[in-house]
Amino acid sequence: MKRFISLVICLLLTTISMTAFAESYVPSPTIEGKFGPNPYLVLVNKENKLPDNWLDLIVLKPAQNSLGEDFLVEEITLGHFNMLREKLLKEGIQIELDSTYRSLEEQQEIWDEWLADPELGPEYCEKYLAKVGYSEHHTGLAIDIFIVKPDGTIERENDEMIADRETFARIHEKLAMFGFILRYPEGKEDITGYNYEPWHFRFVGEDVAKEIFENKLTIEEYLAQIQK
Ligand SMILES: [Zn+2]
Repeated sequence: MKRFISLVICLLLTTISMTAFAESYVPSPTIEGKFGPNPYLVLVNKENKLPDNWLDLIVLKPAQNSLGEDFLVEEITLGHFNMLREKLLKEGIQIELDSTYRSLEEQQEIWDEWLADPELGPEYCEKYLAKVGYSEHHTGLAIDIFIVKPDGTIERENDEMIADRETFARIHEKLAMFGFILRYPEGKEDITGYNYEPWHFRFVGEDVAKEIFENKLTIEEYLAQIQK
């Protein structure tokens, strides 16, 4: 009986701690207090460059996708992504890491690669690719995903993912619960400076994510509101 009771207590405690982790926003102790009240609100876009000391303020953790490809993601962001992924898996949707933290050198390499591709052209690069130092991927808080379909086929091309409205609608409605926002929504291109990217998620913490989602905002609009 005693053993049974301790098992029940143990299970109960595990459930409580898992729920608490899923529902509360836990800032990384390494950046808390060093970068304002919520470091996860850092703004990096075409006008706002990555803060110079950013890498001193965050901890990057290694991660792998189902294809065995290696990534680095900010630690709290990664924990929340894993929970989002689990939740979606239970609903029959498999999302995988496609692009996460990028160093300045890596962003330069992508520019060189894209500009050398005659099929893309400079206009396409300008629309989809951030200048070195101005990519949200430098923060470690941004995650691009791809989808593994139930039949095992991979949906990874931009055009293919943009066309898969049904799957992405189901993914997007779960983002805020785990502290993520859709960073480049449709119809907000003038504000974000980027075309619609259904695959690019940004971690901001649960409370902010819910407010942004419910009010159909961008992070630019949200920051303008709270700074008033
Ligand atoms: Zn991205």
